[in-house]
Amino acid sequence: MERLQKVMAHAGVASRRESEKLIEAGRVKVNGQVVRELGFKVSHQDRIEVDEVPIYKEEPVYYLFYKPLGVISAVKDDKGRKVVTDYFPDVQQRIYPVGRLDYNTSGLLLLTNDGEFANTLMHPRYEIDKVYVAKVEGVIKGEERKALERGVEIDGVMTAPAKAQILSVDRDKDSTIIEVTIHEGRNRQVRKMLEAIGHPVTKLKREQYGFLNLYGLRPGDARTLLKHEVQELM
Ligand code: URA
Repeated sequence: MERLQKVMAHAGVASRRESEKLIEAGRVKVNGQVVRELGFKVSHQDRIEVDEVPIYKEEPVYYLFYKPLGVISAVKDDKGRKVVTDYFPDVQQRIYPVGRLDYNTSGLLLLTNDGEFANTLMHPRYEIDKVYVAKVEGVIKGEERKALERGVEIDGVMTAPAKAQILSVDRDKDSTIIEVTIHEGRNRQVRKMLEAIGHPVTKLKREQYGFLNLYGLRPGDARTLLKHEVQELM
């Protein structure tokens, strides 16, 4: 931890004395809060802004993560539950998830500190295919599968056409495993789509995000994205 004015001076914002003046004038924010205290200590994980402009840009980093069940897609949780960034204790950059998977959904989640990358991928116009495998109650009929492909109404709005492929049916246990590919990212979309055709989801996993998959990873594992993977996604 170092004094704020020292960090600012090191980053080339102004001399230490000039930096103190900026702090006293209320022009400096740390993690979104104005700081006027000259002795305030910061670490390199803190986001420091002068007149709303970050004083340095972190090196962009990109991770592909196999989110386990029972983990929140956030950087902190008020109720103290496990969050995805708990799996990256050694990463110094302020990474966050690109979109989210439900607490009870496992699978592929990207994390980055690159806002432009995250915003681009999450933009609906971008239409990246996401492949989910769901276990549902009941045996899905051909007509129900086709309804998913045409689009179903959830929260009063039709979903875009999806791909849906039945992978297996267990008549004894009265359940179906189905692969659903969507490019939208509405809240709990796959669960709601399957609910809409009368088959509540009992298990859900995201297998693919665009051309990326989970090969070689176990729940809780992560790997950095390769440079060409980042470029291909953008
Ligand atoms: N659809 C869902 O219902 N849940 C997820 O976590 C992702 C997509």
